Amino acid sequence: TTINGYLQTLVADVAQGRYEQAPEFLQIVTHNVSRLKNLVEDLLDLSAIESGKELHIETVNVREVTETVLKQVNSAKHVIQLSYDFDEMEADPHRLEQVLRNLMENAVRYVPEGRNISVRWLKTASGGLQLVVKDDGPGIAAEHQARLFERFYRVDEGRSRSHGGTGIGLSLVKHIVQRHGGEVHLRSELGHGSEFICEFPAP
Ligand code: ADP
Repeated sequence: TTINGYLQTLVADVAQGRYEQAPEFLQIVTHNVSRLKNLVEDLLDLSAIESGKELHIETVNVREVTETVLKQVNSAKHVIQLSYDFDEMEADPHRLEQVLRNLMENAVRYVPEGRNISVRWLKTASGGLQLVVKDDGPGIAAEHQARLFERFYRVDEGRSRSHGGTGIGLSLVKHIVQRHGGEVHLRSELGHGSEFICEFPAP
């Protein structure tokens, strides 16, 4: 609707030889086209994973996955801590990268600059493997936690939108981890940060 509205106004303005507002309108259109593109890409991804598209399981180097994601997300303004109990695991490399990218994009998006974000690859007592992304950001109130992994669920729609969020990231994370035979858990308290735990079965 936004794209349509601004384009129609622009068409009418240009027909009358008026160009003053064109740069601003084109900026708004460009911003919204990019949001639409993100949304379509996320939805296609989610539908592919939900409809049972095959995973391509191979030995994945988790340090490489982490480095790749850190280059992709804009994390320069946060304090990033990394730790590894293991170097490799069996997973779909593209999907595993997507899980970490979504969790890191959220952390960078919702955690104030200068605060801590940690990425830990842990081995549990029972031999399971965990990817844990923890931050000391605003946290998530208990009443939102049960629904947070649903598609389009956002605690603060305006804030998510203005940061380029589509509300699909966490449902994609949950589905990808489940397809690997694992589970996702959230530990968070309002005002006391969030910890997203992706637990994969023992190899
Ligand atoms: P979005 O595209 O809106 O980020 P997600 O499914 O990735 O969608 O996340 C859903 C909601 O969970 C977000 O809109 C935000 O309110 C909340 N959220 C996710 N990660 C964090 C975090 N690290 N700290 C605080 N809130 C978060």
